[in-house]
Amino acid sequence: MTDTAAATKETLGFQAEVKQLLHLMIHSLYSHKDIFLRELISNASDAADKLRFEALSDPALYEDDAELKIRVSVDKDAGTLTIRDNGIGMSRQEVIEHIGTIAKSGTREFFGKLTGDQQKDAQLIGQFGVGFYSSFIVADRVTLTTRRAGLTHEHGVRWESDGSGEYTLETVDKPTRGTEIVLHLKEGEREFLDDWRVKSVIREYSDHIAIPVEFVGRDKNEAGEEVEKAETVNRANALWTRAKSEITEDEYKAFYKHVGHDYEDPLAWTHVKVEGRQDYTALLYVPAHAPFDLWDRDAKTGVKLYVKRVFIMEDARKLMPAYLRFIRGVIDAADLPLNVSREILQETRDMEMIRNGCVRKTLDLLDDIAENRKADYAKVWEHFGKVLKEGVGEDYANKERIARLLRFRSTTTDEETVSLADYVGRMKEGQDKIYYLTAETLAGAKASPHLEVFRKKGVEVLLLTDRVDEWVVSNLFEFDGKPLASVAKGQVDLSSVKAAAEEAPAEPAEAAAGPLLERLKKALAGRAKDVRASHRLVESPACLVADEGDMNANLARMLKSMGQTVPESKPILEVNLAHPLLKRLEGESDARFDELAGLLLDQAVLLDGGQLEDPAGFVRRVNDLLFAGA
Ligand code: ADP
Repeated sequence: MTDTAAATKETLGFQAEVKQLLHLMIHSLYSHKDIFLRELISNASDAADKLRFEALSDPALYEDDAELKIRVSVDKDAGTLTIRDNGIGMSRQEVIEHIGTIAKSGTREFFGKLTGDQQKDAQLIGQFGVGFYSSFIVADRVTLTTRRAGLTHEHGVRWESDGSGEYTLETVDKPTRGTEIVLHLKEGEREFLDDWRVKSVIREYSDHIAIPVEFVGRDKNEAGEEVEKAETVNRANALWTRAKSEITEDEYKAFYKHVGHDYEDPLAWTHVKVEGRQDYTALLYVPAHAPFDLWDRDAKTGVKLYVKRVFIMEDARKLMPAYLRFIRGVIDAADLPLNVSREILQETRDMEMIRNGCVRKTLDLLDDIAENRKADYAKVWEHFGKVLKEGVGEDYANKERIARLLRFRSTTTDEETVSLADYVGRMKEGQDKIYYLTAETLAGAKASPHLEVFRKKGVEVLLLTDRVDEWVVSNLFEFDGKPLASVAKGQVDLSSVKAAAEEAPAEPAEAAAGPLLERLKKALAGRAKDVRASHRLVESPACLVADEGDMNANLARMLKSMGQTVPESKPILEVNLAHPLLKRLEGESDARFDELAGLLLDQAVLLDGGQLEDPAGFVRRVNDLLFAGA
């Protein structure tokens, strides 16, 4: 080693999160400790993919060593297990960024979710994916030596740590490009020095890896001298290129864990070879749980694009539309130009055709789960329902198909299980619309006076309480030919629907109520746009409704809370002329009438989930009434 290299040795501290993660991981993943080998082989395979991609435009990166492979060996005397690859390698800066920090998006949220309960946290950490750091489950010291392809031999970097908070970094000479990781095994982990044990772990986890994984053992030659003997342990062909009939369920699952960076089995997958104007193979998986970065706008993981087996890019937001960003897997295109840049590729029509095809296959898969595996679909909905809902506004061509996949709560069930098709199937005779109510909470929705007449007539109403639901209903106008209608907007006319129980008593003639409505309008001028007789109230005296063309109150509140400016529109007050309170109002003097009218409106605002502009005034008026009644 040269003096300059020695001078560059430095000790650095891990990012605080790394320390915490290491500690947690070692304790919680111990029962699945062999996964460290899977993680390291997986990283080595990704490094080979990256080298192949960069070498497309710069073949010199191969440095006369174009046969990419991963080699695993053990040294029983030293107590070490070594994983070596001739992939892309890392520069000094990359080592600091990738190995000393957790660059993964969603890290902060991940730590926010930890509970301190070992069992729960173990599951979480599995979902998060720990990669390289899993080495510390079995090793008390890890030495990583690497050189990035394209840099000269004196630009090697050695990283070393015992996993307790610090690491050293020094510049070393490294003749071969790529990465070598030496695990100094802990006292109790000598099983990983056993050839047979190591080979069986490699076989279990690496059969689908597209490049050879060799186990380099020691053997005696005829002269009795020890020599190295390399044996390829995996099949070394990309899983998706094999015939479906030759792939077992376990192999599909193992491959998912590799591409999806997940520890759990996937829920479902589809493997298709498409021939036509564009030939491509796609292997797409639905995970069993939401990834940590589901709500992170910069998340990159998702579907990987290969062209003729050469990895081109991985980007959750570009190969799949945003509403399918939870899908994992690979697309391998046969006819796309290899040497085209990622940016250009993305915009080609050919790529668009492939993308559309994959979206259709994914929707087929989701349809199939929804149809035939109800319990699994409930999981899909639980984890990805909010994301799928975005598709209604995002993917115009598939809007109807996406709408079929949606599930809601309704006045008939608190479970999010009602599909629009279910709803339409049980619409009442004479009912011509799909009714819904948006609210901030389920309790708020269920207590809404807007539902009264629907309850009375036995008409089901969908209860929408996710923020994204406002987006859904502003993009989905009809389903199966039936318009969607808010129960809190415009006029409601259920006269063609027969009442579930006895016929409703004849509604008091609205014409006769004209003077009362006029007085109310005058008393509430400035707060209500209009006051009219209601056809939706049964028990409550009054409720607010949005005018046909206005924004509903729930959406307006939501947008305001997000800091957006919302056009001010006053609500319409609907009153229940059959209610005793309204009857009583008629006889009141003007001053008292105005007070009571104000109270009626205040109540309606509260029931609508809104806030009163003058809560003190409201309380005073209620108290006046209480004393007056006493
Ligand atoms: P992940 O693989 O999930 O990103 P890791 O902690 O396993 O997380 O690895 C972090 C990063 O370190 C990788 O994304 C990669 O950039 C780099 N890295 C790890 N192993 C290698 C390797 N063998 N060769 C090149 N880069 C690697």
